[in-house]
Amino acid sequence: MSSGRILIVEDEERLAEALARELGRAYETAVAHTGGDALFLAETQRFDLVLLDLNLPDMDGIDVAAQLEGNPADVIMLTARSDVGSRVRGLYAGAADYVSKPFDMEELLARVYARMRARSRGGQMRWGPLELSFADRSCFVDGAPVELSAQEYHLLALLLEYPDRVFSKHTLEDRLYADQQPESNAIEVLVSRVRKKLTKAGLDRVIETIRGLGYVVRGEGP
Ligand code: CA
Repeated sequence: MSSGRILIVEDEERLAEALARELGRAYETAVAHTGGDALFLAETQRFDLVLLDLNLPDMDGIDVAAQLEGNPADVIMLTARSDVGSRVRGLYAGAADYVSKPFDMEELLARVYARMRARSRGGQMRWGPLELSFADRSCFVDGAPVELSAQEYHLLALLLEYPDRVFSKHTLEDRLYADQQPESNAIEVLVSRVRKKLTKAGLDRVIETIRGLGYVVRGEGP
């Protein structure tokens, strides 16, 4: 019945329980209330995903994320909305994604489902000849590597993860820049840099502009 195992690391017991209940509908779950327990469980059992609160009683969640770097599980961090610094350090430490607290349960579930779906496809996303790998955040066109910055990778991964969904500039700013105030043309610049790199690699028209609405990657590619 279950299609994956998730480790929930959260010291607020009621929240941990709510997460275990919701995620338990689709996955097998285990709960750790401390960083120490989390690392012990992650070493002794196999998980596909670790949902990691960064504010733990015994350890800095970033240190937990860093120690999980060699673990096959993907890490999604739960961070305070204002804690941009930790979020960025967590992404550098190898976490795949983050959700800001307080979060909307539906959104958190959607992010978890998306990540688990991607894993079941072998940790890769494909769009025609374009391939993104979650494990090392690499990008290939027809098997040839394309160097993307972290921000460029995240933009492309987000669009590919939800084909046919139009992302507004505002949504992309929220997802890619969190609480920082990016330049007003930051997303346009980012999109244009990604397009340029993909075009150079021989792949045109991956990201479409929908005038007045935003950006989309359509279907499954050529
Ligand atoms: Ca906490």
